[in-house]
Amino acid sequence: MAEIIDGKVFSKEVRDGLKLKLESLFKKTAKRPVLAVVLIGEDPASQVYVKNKIKACAEIGVVSREYIKEASITENELLAIIDDLNNDDDVNGILVQLPLPKGINEKKVINAISPEKDVDGFHPVNIGKVVIGDDTAFMPCTPHGCHELIKKYVPNTDGLHVVVVGRSNIVGKPMANIMVQKNKGANCIVTVCHSASKDISKYTLQADILIAAVGVPEMIKADMVKEGAVVIDVGVNRIPSDEAGKTKLVGDVDFENVSKKVKAISPVPGGVGPVTIAMLMKNTVKAFCIQNGIEE
Ligand code: NDP
Repeated sequence: MAEIIDGKVFSKEVRDGLKLKLESLFKKTAKRPVLAVVLIGEDPASQVYVKNKIKACAEIGVVSREYIKEASITENELLAIIDDLNNDDDVNGILVQLPLPKGINEKKVINAISPEKDVDGFHPVNIGKVVIGDDTAFMPCTPHGCHELIKKYVPNTDGLHVVVVGRSNIVGKPMANIMVQKNKGANCIVTVCHSASKDISKYTLQADILIAAVGVPEMIKADMVKEGAVVIDVGVNRIPSDEAGKTKLVGDVDFENVSKKVKAISPVPGGVGPVTIAMLMKNTVKAFCIQNGIEE
């Protein structure tokens, strides 16, 4: 049976560390980081994500400011809110919960956020910095979290073959770019698979580290993974459970069978999800430090 990559425990370690750091910084500066959280519309999943992010802020000593607006808000009104937040020196980080309602151009909204306050790490400037390995980047929180888990569970990644399944702008592409850098905890050979890849097993079977970010429930089966691999499951999929009328969350990996074969695996839930929120907190503290000239 594989070692379970426990995202809840790791997330708590990170958040405890950030809390201590913020207590000490508060003594020196009498300031706390401020994160503006923008939620548009009433998507239930987004409401839960935002609630969890605000809770995480409160726990570590980040001040959250909520901007909750109806789905009928116009793109220009939303852009005006972002402009105000960009120009507000008290605000260190800006998070706009995605997806946005139809009629609002997500790309335009992401691009409007000041890269210095883009704690989600979606702005092209931050993505560009990830690609060139500039450590002032705010890395997108999910791949950042996967990377932190890999650093913890794989002592030496030099020359390992990482296979990323999925090439979205928020997970797959930044993930591949993080793992290819000539850095400790990376320095890997990277293959990216996607929906046009024929015979994905040919690649996944070569993976020393397999990262599944597809959005297809339990797509990665035991016969697709190499014995002894480390598997990071990013997927969050809701499917009907055995109990009538109920649903359950599963990842992109067939956990039950794959876990019998591999060295370590992150579960869903309790793997990448909690670490993603911890990385949002880390990015917010980083933004606060950079903006206040504090060496990290
Ligand atoms: P996207 O839908 O944006 O991207 C999915 C990617 O998977 C695409 O590149 C797509 O290929 C590829 N793909 C789809 N079907 C197949 C297939 N059959 N074979 C190979 N590749 C395929 O999803 P995200 O990257 O946003 O999210 C992926 C998963 O991770 C989802 O389950 C999501 O809920 C979860 N997630 C979890 C987070 C967390 O914090 N735990 C955060 C973000 C996402 P193509 O490009 O060709 O379309």
